[in-house]
Amino acid sequence: MDIKAPFHKKPWVIAGPCSAESQEQLLVTAKAIQSDTDLFRAGVWKPRTRPNSFEGIGEKALEWLQVVKQETDLLVATEVANAQHVEKCLQAGIDVLWLGARTTVNPFYVQEIAEALKGVDMPIMVKNPLHPELSLWIGALERLNKLGINQLTAIHRGFFTLEKSAFRNEPKWEIPIRLKKKCPELPIICDPSHISGNRTMIQEVAQTALDLNMSGFMVETHVSPQTALSDAEQQITPKQLSNLISSLVLRETSAEDKNFNAQLKKLRKSIDEVDMKLLQVMGDRTKLVQEIGRFKKENSVTILQIERWFEILKTRQEMGVSCNLENQMVSELFELIHKHSILTQTDIMKK
Ligand code: PEP
Ligand code: MN
Repeated sequence: MDIKAPFHKKPWVIAGPCSAESQEQLLVTAKAIQSDTDLFRAGVWKPRTRPNSFEGIGEKALEWLQVVKQETDLLVATEVANAQHVEKCLQAGIDVLWLGARTTVNPFYVQEIAEALKGVDMPIMVKNPLHPELSLWIGALERLNKLGINQLTAIHRGFFTLEKSAFRNEPKWEIPIRLKKKCPELPIICDPSHISGNRTMIQEVAQTALDLNMSGFMVETHVSPQTALSDAEQQITPKQLSNLISSLVLRETSAEDKNFNAQLKKLRKSIDEVDMKLLQVMGDRTKLVQEIGRFKKENSVTILQIERWFEILKTRQEMGVSCNLENQMVSELFELIHKHSILTQTDIMKK
C-alpha cells in the first residue's frame, strides 16, 4: 500500500463524545478538551446493535460540528457507513472520516465508501472489524488505497468475544502487531474506550498501546458521561482526559545508553540460545511423532486417541504450573504442537 502518514505528533489524540447529542454538548466538550486534543470526534450516525436505541442525530449534527470548527482550533471527525454519509460529510467540510467496526466487516459498504471518496485527499481511519480477521481489516484499507486514498490510519478497537472477559472487546494485541508487520508504514492508533467498555481500564489499555508503539488514541469524552445517550459507561470527562494524558509514560523505541544496549544484547543472545535449544527439542519431538505415526500405520491403529490428547493437555498444564508458565500459554502451545503432530502422522498414513 502507498501510505502517507496523516499526522506526525505522538501520541496523536482524538477525543470527543461517542455521539453528537446537541450543539451545546459538542461545543462545551470541544472547548474543554481542545488543549489536550488534536482531532475532535463525534458520532453523527450511530450503528446500534438493537433498534429503539439512540441512533444518532443524523445530518443536523454535521452543522454542529461546523460550529465546533469555527469556535475552536480543532479539526473534526465522524463515522461514515455508506456513500450518502460520505457525501454529506464532504459538503459539510468534515476534516477526517472513519469507518466503524460494523462497516469494515462489509466489503460492499467499504467499496461504496471508497468510490464516494475517489479523488478526495483527506485522512480516513479504519477501525478493525468486529471479529479478529486481519485480512478484512487490511482488505478495507486496500480498497480505499486502491482508489487513491493514502492518508490512512488503522484504529484498533478490540474484538467481540463470546468468552467471559474483563474487556468489552478483547484487545488481542497480536492482531494489530500482525497488521504492523504487514504494513509497517501504516499508523495504528488505539481506541481504549471501546476495548475497555468502562472508565476504569482506559488508562491501562492506553499505556499498553503506547508500549506497543502505537501512534495515538481515540478516547470517548463527554461533559456529562452519566447522561450520555450512548456508551455512557465508557466515556470520561474532559478533566479525566487531561489526567489520562498526563499519566501516560511515553517510552522510546530504543536507547542511546551504551550500558543498556550492551546488557540488552547479552540478554538477547541468551534468548537466541534458548530458542535454538527449543527448536532442537522440537526436532527430537517430531522424530518421535514420525516413529509413532509409522508404528500406528503398521499396526492399523488410528492417528487420534482422544483420551491420550486429554491426558497430554492435563499433564502439560500441570508441568507448566511447576515451570511457572501461564495455563493459557501452555494450552495454546500444545494445541499448536498437537495440530502439527496430527498433520505429520496424516502424511505418514497417506504414503
Ligand atoms: C464509535 O466509535 O462510537 C463506534 C461506534 O465504534 P466501533 O465502530 O468501534 O464500535
Ligand atoms: Mn461509542
